[in-house]
Amino acid sequence: MKAEIISVGDELTSGQRLDTNSQFISRRLGDLGINVRHHTTVGDDLADNVAAFRIAAGRSDVVIISGGLGPTADDLTREAMAQAFDRPLEFRPEAMQHIESLFKTRNRPMPERNRVQAMFPVTSRIIHNPHGTAPGIDLEVRLESSEGGHDHSSRLFALPGVPAEMIEMLSQTVEPRLIAELGLGQNRWYYHSLKLFGLGESDVEKVIPDLIARDRTPRVGITVSKATITLRIAAQAASQQDFDSQILGTIEQIREAFGEFIFAQGDLELQDVVRELLDQKDCTLSVVEVGAGCWVGQMLSDGFEPQANSGLKHLTWLPTRPESTDPDWLVNLAFRSQQSFKTDYALAVGIYPAISDFESQTSLPWADLQVAMVGPLDQAEDKADDQRNRRKVVTKSQRVSGHPELFYQRLAKTALDMLRRELIGE
Ligand code: AMP
Ligand code: MG
Repeated sequence: MKAEIISVGDELTSGQRLDTNSQFISRRLGDLGINVRHHTTVGDDLADNVAAFRIAAGRSDVVIISGGLGPTADDLTREAMAQAFDRPLEFRPEAMQHIESLFKTRNRPMPERNRVQAMFPVTSRIIHNPHGTAPGIDLEVRLESSEGGHDHSSRLFALPGVPAEMIEMLSQTVEPRLIAELGLGQNRWYYHSLKLFGLGESDVEKVIPDLIARDRTPRVGITVSKATITLRIAAQAASQQDFDSQILGTIEQIREAFGEFIFAQGDLELQDVVRELLDQKDCTLSVVEVGAGCWVGQMLSDGFEPQANSGLKHLTWLPTRPESTDPDWLVNLAFRSQQSFKTDYALAVGIYPAISDFESQTSLPWADLQVAMVGPLDQAEDKADDQRNRRKVVTKSQRVSGHPELFYQRLAKTALDMLRRELIGE
């Protein structure tokens, strides 16, 4: 079963408003086990709408359209459906009655132009709109397949663009019709995510080419956002339990391939995992950040609830240029912070050159991300030894290039990941 979604409106194509309807409808169709293969956004132009509807009906079994059902001259969905499939508009008294009754309850005379909302392509069915004047249109058409082969039928549902009305009509009428008349809803799409840090997207793909194959079940997709890689496992299943057992083997294969690079499953982010680990181990942390912002601090405070224990005891921001590129300089900062604030762990991060210097770089901006971590006192060592020598110190320096905005994300995540690996005893 192939489905697609069309959103109609100049406010969408011009970027004035975000098309949230397509996202919502896609998710709901996914819940019914329907594969959504295309999203189309088209402006308020009759010929463009006619073309978009024909293309969609030619290749998809189900087409959901939203927008363009209002009473004004720029609302063209009705007319476009009539033209696209050669189904002239006819007057439907029952739709008219509903529109009139809505105006009556609002104590307002009905403008003449609202009559157009009672016009429907012949053979189409009405989709009741309990709280609005724009009824939806449910039309089945038979067409020559655009992908060659046999004729096929396509079911088009046109709904108003107002999200609240669209949502109500989708769940009250469209979904029940899809389930009852097209036999959908036995299975739905389920998703599960695994998140990785410290590898590039193509490195990941190289390691698990078989898992990424498009025709595989369950399906595995890779996305990257701000240096975090997400592997998203998707499958159709009758229940969560069914899905969980379907993906067991896939999860195991991914774990085997990437081990400690995987920091979380589901919606958790690196900072959530680090906060949780600090809390579990009853450990405290201080952070020193040198440069243009508090990147680690920003991440650790993101989504943090003040009553919860984050482990973060102190954050120091040195909004200066780094004094030295020697990693020992950062180690010293971390060590001093750990001593002053009596924390178990201390992180110090810096970026070279400073952000203000990026602008003077003529070629692609590059930078060295530097991280130093100092761990707790090693109790097993000789107590008489110098305190500094008895602490675990880890440093990392990484040259990166590309958009400077990403440098800070990567710097903060590198630091948090270093701490995470330490806390899980890697
Ligand atoms: P319409 O049904 O075309 O008259 O749209 C009514 C209103 O709903 C528009 O002015 C938009 O504010 C909103 N709207 C229409 N389409 C969408 C969409 N795809 N996503 C979010 N809002 C929409
Ligand atoms: Mg519109």
